[in-house]
Amino acid sequence: VESGLLRLAELPPETRDGQRILLKGNVEVPEEGPSVLRHGGEGVGLYRTEMLFMNRREMPEEEEQYQAYAAMQRAVEPHPLTIRTLDAGGDKLLDGLQHPTEQNPALGVRAIRLALRMPEEFKKQLRAILRVSAAGDVRIMFPMISCLDELRSARAVLEQAKAELDDAGIPFDRHIQVGIMIEVPSAVVVSDLLARESDFFSVGTNDLIQYTLAIDRSNEHLVSLYQPLHPAVLRSLRTVVEAARGAGIPACICGEMAGDPLYLPVLLGLGFGELSMGAGSIPRVKQMLRRCDMNQAAEVASACFAFSTAEQVDLFLRNAIATTF
Ligand code: PEP
Ligand code: MG
Repeated sequence: VESGLLRLAELPPETRDGQRILLKGNVEVPEEGPSVLRHGGEGVGLYRTEMLFMNRREMPEEEEQYQAYAAMQRAVEPHPLTIRTLDAGGDKLLDGLQHPTEQNPALGVRAIRLALRMPEEFKKQLRAILRVSAAGDVRIMFPMISCLDELRSARAVLEQAKAELDDAGIPFDRHIQVGIMIEVPSAVVVSDLLARESDFFSVGTNDLIQYTLAIDRSNEHLVSLYQPLHPAVLRSLRTVVEAARGAGIPACICGEMAGDPLYLPVLLGLGFGELSMGAGSIPRVKQMLRRCDMNQAAEVASACFAFSTAEQVDLFLRNAIATTF
């Protein structure tokens, strides 16, 4: 990023009319923490923990996990750190596990489904995260929740982890926030139900687009059909933000859509108050944010729903940005 954009890091992340929006970073290893702050991020909205589990024969022990999460927490202090529990399986196979052979890995035993099948390993990770929560604002996020039962089962394992720490006299944040990724269409449809039992939502647009449009996010033959502005995606985002608002919980976006300034007016206008992205994207998104006005963003967002195709929405948005913001 050129130095002009980096200088933006000093300026407040707010619209022209003074609406503050939380811009955070997505990270995979503790070394990325400082870069988020340098780019003006106010914390980490998505710590993908998979890296710690990959390319090794054995699953990392609780202490090793604790050290990694604690290092990340120290790096982003005093800002919040949202740690996503293991999102393995599918195309992210771990050498330390016997994954089933699957015909459709993206629809298979991955993410929270995998975690719930190995509760002891899952609990180990939750204990490590809980321990770090004693030191600062740390939050837990479950990936790929597709129904209420999964959320409840994951919370039950979390309660066991808390009880074990209590028994051992190990401190943790008793009010630790527990949120979920919204990245499966069924979660969108029942987002009002999920919102009642979640402390926050974070939309994983990468998977949500993949599953909503039935387009493999990594299939090079289908790139043109992978459309973030498809009306089905926009309607889904609206449903999620309304469910969050109804329950009084924050709605964040942590998929790639959050890091592209083109989508910012729509996301703002829909009511997302928090965006998490690769550190390098923060300055450009902030630059666009500081050009936006909430009323105009709301108008742009609602105008997007008048169109029937992604292409029309895309044209409209580019034009709106060129002329309005
Ligand atoms: C997503 O699906 O949008 C997301 C943020 O998670 P990941 O890219 O790690 O699947
Ligand atoms: Mg995902």
